[in-house]
Amino acid sequence: MTSGRLAILGASIASMTVFAQSPPQPDWSKLQDETMQHYQALLRIDTRNPPGNEHLVAEYVKQVFDKAGIPAQIVGSDPKRSNVVARLKGSGRKRPLLIMGHSDVVTVDEAKWKFPPFSATRDGGYVYGRGTVDDKDNLTAALMTMLLLKRLNVPLDRDVIFLSESGEEGSTGVGIGYLVKEQFPLIDAEYCIAEGGGVVRIGGEVKYATVQTLEKIPRGIELVSHGISGHGSVPLKSNAIVHLAGAVAKVGDWRPEIRFNETTGSYFRKLASVSPPEIAKYYRDVLSTDPQVRKAADDWLFENEPRHSSMLRTSVSPNIFTGGYRSNVIPSEAKATLDVRALPDENPAKFLEQVKQVVNDPAIEVRFTGQNERPAGAEPRLDNEAFKALEAAGTRIYNTITLPTMSTGATDMAQLRAKGVQCFGIGSATDFEDPPKGFGAHSDQERLLESELYRFVRFNWDVVTNLAGAR
Ligand SMILES: [Zn+2]
Repeated sequence: MTSGRLAILGASIASMTVFAQSPPQPDWSKLQDETMQHYQALLRIDTRNPPGNEHLVAEYVKQVFDKAGIPAQIVGSDPKRSNVVARLKGSGRKRPLLIMGHSDVVTVDEAKWKFPPFSATRDGGYVYGRGTVDDKDNLTAALMTMLLLKRLNVPLDRDVIFLSESGEEGSTGVGIGYLVKEQFPLIDAEYCIAEGGGVVRIGGEVKYATVQTLEKIPRGIELVSHGISGHGSVPLKSNAIVHLAGAVAKVGDWRPEIRFNETTGSYFRKLASVSPPEIAKYYRDVLSTDPQVRKAADDWLFENEPRHSSMLRTSVSPNIFTGGYRSNVIPSEAKATLDVRALPDENPAKFLEQVKQVVNDPAIEVRFTGQNERPAGAEPRLDNEAFKALEAAGTRIYNTITLPTMSTGATDMAQLRAKGVQCFGIGSATDFEDPPKGFGAHSDQERLLESELYRFVRFNWDVVTNLAGAR
């Protein structure tokens, strides 16, 4: 640990271990043009999924790495939907670090866009386009980090693996599914850094950073109601639709028990520390051991911050209801589909039993749909070197606190966590006010501040050099 490095770090990051020799620092102001050039080039490649066409990104990235002398290969099961894996070798003293971004984006409704969705238009300090915050910012930051590691010849204690993966937006079979199943040695790592976190700005000021350490597991459940069919002019007590409606209403009113894990417990505690007192109260109360205090906070969160309510429990949302085909026929069957997002440690069989008890109707069959792409994985330790490196980078680059989060939605990290890779989701800084105004991920005006793109590259560099640089 050199004193120069220490002075930069300040005394506040006592827990962070740093380089034996500091790595050379890039001249960041000179890298903005190059960063923007790659970012815009990636955004201008139309990889809306479906159909994807991620091979266009794969070819672009491969060509950039070839020019830089970084060994890279294009891999995939479908030539139009390929992935790129590149690797910078370390001494092998530690197991590899994987940095990844997905190359596909969600589809667009072109008519709704002020700037064409694949134009990467720069306007008022922002870059507009599909993928600006999901996930071509991560892809660009990972790409730049690789280029800089190579250019500055940074000695590494572990291999740094770069992955541009296809199909994250709903067709994981060509991307992470394929890689984990067929090419795992290429991407096998101790740690992985991908999308899923971010930095929250409110009123233009950074308030806190989030690092996704865990995610809920999607598991569909079907309620199938069986009754007797007959003529609609003669109502029957066994009417399948009536039974199903009752079952759905019961499930809709049910809020499964609250359960915290290390991530969510730490999240609510830290969130309370950076929130206005009138809101912080609810984050503290929901952690209370007093059932009444907890219940009041839970009610408030359910009504006002439903995403936080979902983080507390395995959630159930009835989203499809089908039955009947003509008005004078009583159908013998009706079906509802529940979107269940399970806590990572949920016992599926036990949970199914609970749903049965809530439904409490022998005419209703309760079963899993069988559609489950994402496996459960273990929660990483929050006191390990990777989380510490992320926290330290949050302090250094954003001067802010880092909250571990469990996302309610699923990401490609699920497949990697199931293979034992400890994964962390990060993201560039965006304005809290942006999504409600229609500027968020998947919106018709997806955008990112140029200055935040540059800062995100610095953040990536900081994390990767600390975690992989030779000590
Ligand atoms: Zn994404």
